Amino acid sequence: MGYLVDLICTRCRRSHDKDRLWNLSACCEAPLFARYDLEKVQNAFHKADLPGRETTMWRYKEVLPVERVAHRISLGEGFTPLLKADALGTRVGVPDLYVKDEGVNPTGSFKARGLSAAISRAAELGADAVAIPSAGNAGGATAAYAARAGMEAYIFMPNDAPAANMVECRRLGARLTLVDGLITDCGRMVADRKEAEGWFDVSTLKEPYRVEGKKTMGYELAEQLDWALPDVVLYPTGGGTGLIGMWKAFDEMEAMGWIGSARPRMVAVQAEGCAPVVRAYETGAESAEFWEDADTVASGLRVPGAVGDFLMLRAIRESHGTAIAVTDGALLACVDEMASSTGIFPAPEGAATLAGLKELAGKGWVSSEERVVLFNTGTGLKYIEAIGAADGVR
Ligand SMILES: *Cc1c(COP(=O)(O)O)cnc(C)c1O
Repeated sequence: MGYLVDLICTRCRRSHDKDRLWNLSACCEAPLFARYDLEKVQNAFHKADLPGRETTMWRYKEVLPVERVAHRISLGEGFTPLLKADALGTRVGVPDLYVKDEGVNPTGSFKARGLSAAISRAAELGADAVAIPSAGNAGGATAAYAARAGMEAYIFMPNDAPAANMVECRRLGARLTLVDGLITDCGRMVADRKEAEGWFDVSTLKEPYRVEGKKTMGYELAEQLDWALPDVVLYPTGGGTGLIGMWKAFDEMEAMGWIGSARPRMVAVQAEGCAPVVRAYETGAESAEFWEDADTVASGLRVPGAVGDFLMLRAIRESHGTAIAVTDGALLACVDEMASSTGIFPAPEGAATLAGLKELAGKGWVSSEERVVLFNTGTGLKYIEAIGAADGVR
């Protein structure tokens, strides 16, 4: 068991020991990527093995970091439905349209994937308390997986995060601190206190394994589309873990001979009130500058600065994708449009991908022959204050 070789600095590729807890790389303070012995995996694990396996992200266990099955902290995350959206596709002129519905994950968002992987591995390596800055859903997922692992969880969240996220953190037994500020202010509080408190920091891309959990979305896309990736993927981008993770998954699958060299064009969708990756993409920059006064109802997109910015921008450009910002008005209207035409009640972040698609299809950047996947990253049920205004919810 165990094909993990080491951890590689994403800037200079220096190797780091896999058997101890790491945050950023020792050399460049950059994200670390898990490296597997893919030649060995290729001999031991075949696509044909998959149909009989469990219907969670752990069906890809050979390319996940946890070394002993007993150490896995799972609530049944992943292997979410990839749903054909015929009526919606016809409406927007992209008939071969799918929605990957991450809202059915434990805790109601795709954050479950990353935190299942990260907390499993942290527990395996001896951590007994974790801390995280969160816009909402990462906090809820951390609280749930920490509860299951018997670990303490310390969560720092902006005081305007969705109420559902605050309630779930507390009921799941986490210590929640509400911060009058943004997720980046929360991150600073974790950084300042973790040493003295003995917390392991599980911030986005500041530990190596959340991206491993989220990369399984890339494996699932390939498996669910019979090993032919779609032409275009639209992803609502905050810290970017999913985008970066899927890009890593595609490379791993190609190295194992599971797919060829064709890749989807990766589209980062952000909100106009917080679009650092879009701005950097448009100006040709290799990394993104901090976005002042970030403001959007899509709380998961309220990320003004991301440690993995250069990795996102690299993936978008290598894929010949793009980055696009949509208004809060457009993304909220798309909550209704996606919900009423697909039966999926999306998070505002997920609905933002539909707003982005409409714009790109209108410009001809996406053609009517192409196969397109929208990521609905969470359930609308967690955003009742943001979405329910028309129903009298305050
Ligand atoms: C966190 C979050 C995002 C952003 O995800 P990243 O991988 O960090 O870019 C999008 N949608 C929802 C619902 C989220 O919770």
